[in-house]
Amino acid sequence: MFFDKIQTAPADPILGLGEAFKAETRPEKVNLGIGVYKDAEGNTPVLKAVKAAETRLLAEEKTKNYLGIDGVAAYNAETQKLLFGADSEIIASRRAKTAQTLGGTGALRIAAEFVKRQTEAASVWISTPTWPNHNAIFETVGVNIRNYRYYDKAAHALDWDGLTADLAQAEKGDVVLFHGCCHNPTGIDPTPEQWDALAKMSAEKGWLPLFDFAYQGLANGIEEDAYGLRAFAKHNKELLVASSYSKNFGMYNERVGAFTVVAENEETANRAFSQVKAIIRTIYSNPASHGGHTVAMVLQDPALKAQWIGELDEMRARIKEMRQKFVDTLKEKGAKQDFGFIIRQNGMFSFSGLTPEQVDRLKDEFAVYAVRSGRINVAGMTNANIGYLCESIVKVL
Ligand code: PLP
Repeated sequence: MFFDKIQTAPADPILGLGEAFKAETRPEKVNLGIGVYKDAEGNTPVLKAVKAAETRLLAEEKTKNYLGIDGVAAYNAETQKLLFGADSEIIASRRAKTAQTLGGTGALRIAAEFVKRQTEAASVWISTPTWPNHNAIFETVGVNIRNYRYYDKAAHALDWDGLTADLAQAEKGDVVLFHGCCHNPTGIDPTPEQWDALAKMSAEKGWLPLFDFAYQGLANGIEEDAYGLRAFAKHNKELLVASSYSKNFGMYNERVGAFTVVAENEETANRAFSQVKAIIRTIYSNPASHGGHTVAMVLQDPALKAQWIGELDEMRARIKEMRQKFVDTLKEKGAKQDFGFIIRQNGMFSFSGLTPEQVDRLKDEFAVYAVRSGRINVAGMTNANIGYLCESIVKVL
């Protein structure tokens, strides 16, 4: 037998948690694990703008013919507008090329293959901590990984000195991976001034920046959250972007992402992109249609787009409200530590400072599920569960 010798793979630290939560039978259970938005009732609904576009799409759809390797053209064009701004020089001079991919994860995998096969990068630089799949994807493809410091545990802040000291060692041509906003898992992003400094450093040192932009609109707004990426685009002629609509459109299971290559000019962009398409062809040939057409329809229709922006604003406002409530309730329930830093973090995640042992106790004794790194999903908090949640946390502190 060939398969007898196969070892069981370790469970994914985050997705495995979702499975365990599903199987949890205690009714008071709270899920702060996987990064999915929940509304005030604890549901993950289909956005109204998305449902409206899907309804229209279903009525209008005339074929199930294959999409091209790079997916829906309107989707790719609208993606570039969100990334770089509608009036961006990059778009006008056609030096960015975008492929619709299978989620942000798919975009990252294509990015990693592209880096491995088509660039001279000796290493990819990844922040510590980061979303665990970053390391896994680049390891799978066989790109050497170096890490740069990102988080100052004591100050609950960006470790700017550590970050710049580590990245000073990056060689010309190395890929440096940045989280566009809502850094996962810390929730801490560089300030605009720090982004400017990094963008200049990148241009001077000759890095190839790769932006993972999975949460656009969930920190401060669509335009605001693109500050870092656009600062880099201003100073660097070449860059790569892996973006995703999973979170900001709530379209997790439709796998809507995009990989964008920005080159110095249109001719180079076209050549580079022909290689991107060659990579995609051998992995999944071409993406799925439904999600791509849905997002494109929302973004192309001014009324639907306005409705989407409104819904995104609501999500962001609810997360910010829960951050404040979480900090206030912890205090109310008797926490001695100051958790005020949580209010300053961006996006769904907070690096709570809880230790792996405390996280384990929360699960075992209180049916509260979080990632062992201490990352908690603030969007999993509701008015109904926050009292119980904070009481439980205070008991394990
Ligand atoms: N990048 C980061 C930092 C993420 O947190 C996620 C999702 O959790 C992704 C990329 C990938 O998102 P998806 O593949 O679901 O679009």
